[in-house]
Amino acid sequence: MGCDFIALATPGVQGLQPYVPGKPAQELERELGLTDIVKLASNENPLGPSPVALAAAQQALGELQLYPDASGYHLKQALQRHYGLAPDCITLGNGSNDVLELVARAFLRPGDEVIYSQYAFLVYPIITQASCATAVVTKALDWGHDLDAMLRAVTERTRLIFIANPNNPTGTWLNRAQLCAFMDALPPSVILVLDEAYTEYSDDPEFPDGLDLLSRYENLIVTRTFSKAWGLAGLRVGFAAANTVITDLLNRVRQPFNVSGPALAAAEAVLQDRAYLARTLETNRAGMRQLVAGLEQLGLSVIPSAGNFVCVGLGRPAGPVYQQLLRRGVIVRPVANYQMPDHVRISIGLEAQNRRCLQALEEVLSA
Ligand SMILES: *Cc1c(COP(=O)(O)O)cnc(C)c1O
Repeated sequence: MGCDFIALATPGVQGLQPYVPGKPAQELERELGLTDIVKLASNENPLGPSPVALAAAQQALGELQLYPDASGYHLKQALQRHYGLAPDCITLGNGSNDVLELVARAFLRPGDEVIYSQYAFLVYPIITQASCATAVVTKALDWGHDLDAMLRAVTERTRLIFIANPNNPTGTWLNRAQLCAFMDALPPSVILVLDEAYTEYSDDPEFPDGLDLLSRYENLIVTRTFSKAWGLAGLRVGFAAANTVITDLLNRVRQPFNVSGPALAAAEAVLQDRAYLARTLETNRAGMRQLVAGLEQLGLSVIPSAGNFVCVGLGRPAGPVYQQLLRRGVIVRPVANYQMPDHVRISIGLEAQNRRCLQALEEVLSA
């Protein structure tokens, strides 16, 4: 190239490591000529989409020539009915990744500090770095968040803190008392972004509901997604809930048509499909029991998880195990890029999928 385009990019983008998604089943099919692949790598809903959501999306396809409703009126009304959220407290996103980026774009200047934990979701370092902000990474405590360390890391330059509850990839979680004590100690000018992508799955009675805490803490942004328990990862819908001033700021940087018509319609419809959510949670509970029991029988150490996945220590480098599982048509998620080279993350699947994963793992580990 005649011009050094890399030098033209912002310093943040120059040093950026792109997000590595789970391997798509079709890619493995192409590479190894396998069929009947079990993908337990991206925490997707193993039930397939809700029929109610599917019907709504199909109906919306008849209006593909139209721009979607930029305000997302009907979905916001449904969110208000479902969660009691006022529409002017909601920012809709093309997945919750989109709203996480909006938060970074609205609030981060070069030199601002962003706190997150070791083993935090990799999107947080990416959007921090892309904003030329400074990442402050605190050490994990038992694979989860060390809230005292995070509080000690706060300076007058701290603008945002990211916490996923439960955390991905470790599955660890904070209870209500821990989270509230943390928020109580936080300066009001430091915004906590509480990423609740997996909140539906927890059955711990002490598990906090971030949406309930919004009236108590002005410096709180809660993000939710339709990609996991609601089974709509392919359509890309998520939202942020926050006070009206923050919501107005986020909507200033939001692209007006960031959520497609079929996605808006499916998300609105799926909120009514209580049976689908109930089936999702029951499938996850049973699958979690099955997978954890099977993994422990193999002598592996499983990190307790409140999500729809488990992170498991293999006691040896996970890379070769991952490769051998691929050859048996089982896709799990390596987490070496999270500095966990001996672990893999396994999404909870259907009974037969979990069984195949455990069988393949047993073969690979005993070989
Ligand atoms: C899956 C996930 C999300 C959701 O991403 P979408 O863009 O909504 O699909 C957000 N945060 C965490 C921690 C996740 O694991």
